[in-house]
Amino acid sequence: MFNCTIPSIVFQEVPNQVSLCFCITGCQIGCKGCHSPELWQETHGHPLTNQTFTDLLTQYQGLITCVLFFGGEWAPLPLIEKLVIAKEHGLLTCLYSGEEVVAPQIIQHLNFLKTGSWQQEKGGLDNPKTNQKFIDVQTGKNLTHLFCSGEQHAAT
Ligand code: SF4
Repeated sequence: MFNCTIPSIVFQEVPNQVSLCFCITGCQIGCKGCHSPELWQETHGHPLTNQTFTDLLTQYQGLITCVLFFGGEWAPLPLIEKLVIAKEHGLLTCLYSGEEVVAPQIIQHLNFLKTGSWQQEKGGLDNPKTNQKFIDVQTGKNLTHLFCSGEQHAAT
């Protein structure tokens, strides 16, 4: 079980997809200049149960094409359960992690994966100097260049 803040629909974090985005709380990475330090407290937000998650996907059916998690890799079992539910609803899945390496057990349920911590001097995915990567998991292709148009923004 983990908590999340109020989910929102986002258009730029996963290229060409309409994503329902869940910010999972309890991040321990501690990036200097973190955009949302309230996400460090695992008690922040509300519990995201499998039933709540399923109800939301049903509510947004036909409106979204992808489910995006900002964090949650520190709790692999509840995260994997959500990814499986998303797939059962015919949705693509994406994880934004601040880690360099994510467990294969999680990756096998992902279509897209962003890795790398927030480093202010290097910027996010839309900065050519970024340390972060956005990968198409199925093909292994690095899609980070798609964010460099200046229209995409990602910091987590
Ligand atoms: S990974 Fe994201 S939420 Fe966690 S500390 Fe870094 S910027 Fe903040």
